[in-house]
Amino acid sequence: MHVKKGDLVKVLAGRDKGKEGHIVQAFPKENRVVVEKVNLVKRHQRPTAENPEGGIITKEAPIHVSNVMKVCTSCRKPTRIAHKFLDDGKKVRACKHCGATLD
Ligand SMILES: [Zn+2]
Repeated sequence: MHVKKGDLVKVLAGRDKGKEGHIVQAFPKENRVVVEKVNLVKRHQRPTAENPEGGIITKEAPIHVSNVMKVCTSCRKPTRIAHKFLDDGKKVRACKHCGATLD
């Protein structure tokens, strides 16, 4: 995947198009990510010992990685990922706009 947990991303499609948030959970096998405050769904919860009232809770649902783009921490633009190699041969992600290293 081009993004991972902790990345700041912009949502490109769906109900929350245009929103930005950090990835709080990633599911590489399913190519899905959970982005904070994005794709919120209401869940009806039964009363439990910890929460005797039960009721409705809102929670983020995963969205497909193709619907998000990483936001460059340097130029603040949503960017596609370029790859570059450091002097020690390590491969890192880089911004297509400004070339900043994103790892
Ligand atoms: Zn940049």
